Amino acid sequence: MRRKLVAGNWKMHGGLARNRELLDSLVQAIGKGGSADCAVCVPFPYLAQTQELLKGTAIAWGAQTLSEHGQGAYTGEVSAAMLTDFGCRYVLVGHSERRSLYGESNEAVAAKLLAAVQGGLTPVLCLGETLEQREGGITEKIIAAQLDAVTAAGMNGLAKAVIAYEPVWAIGTGRTATPQQAQDVHAFIRTRLAGSDAALAQRMQILYGGSVKPQNAAELFGMTDIDGGLIGGASLVAQDFLAICTAAAG
Ligand code: PEP
Repeated sequence: MRRKLVAGNWKMHGGLARNRELLDSLVQAIGKGGSADCAVCVPFPYLAQTQELLKGTAIAWGAQTLSEHGQGAYTGEVSAAMLTDFGCRYVLVGHSERRSLYGESNEAVAAKLLAAVQGGLTPVLCLGETLEQREGGITEKIIAAQLDAVTAAGMNGLAKAVIAYEPVWAIGTGRTATPQQAQDVHAFIRTRLAGSDAALAQRMQILYGGSVKPQNAAELFGMTDIDGGLIGGASLVAQDFLAICTAAAG
């Protein structure tokens, strides 16, 4: 039985006062832990505040991207070691907004995943197809290419990762994949992983992301291969995020 994980992706949202209110509410409700794991991935400038407020609680935290480099002349970039300095456990890699807005290729994402693992972080590898790709019947081909770019570098990186399937057409659109649509892709990911490492495929946490809300979370999380969620918009509203965590706790 895989443990469920619900991770919030705040994206470029937040402010010191707002964050405090949100994190205090989370700590009050789930700070002592439960039967599902919970994390928030916050903008870089708020890592210190997040660490201060979540330290010693059962809620983990992380960042939304990182550099593939360890250090050096990479203006504006943030390394894995900098993230662990602030107590991060998780870092998102290959979120579709990074891929589409900042041109991150499958190979760049694979390099970031390795940098995260080498730095002691748990990368959350995001995979997903666009609406055009889905309608063109190439969802599996796209997911396979995104996954294979990572497995090409060996299974050591993935062995310490979490995967999030996030259909691009469902992110921030209010349009959710049906539980069966999501399950089909999750099963495809697990089967493809099993081709390289059957034991890893079985224990891999595969999250679903894309307009998860309190109203649809339980049904999604009830599917065989869905091990929790990556939550964007709803992670900014304490009551909604907590309801999703409760749904994951089953
Ligand atoms: C995300 O940002 O990863 C995401 C899934 O966003 P939303 O839940 O708002 O669709």
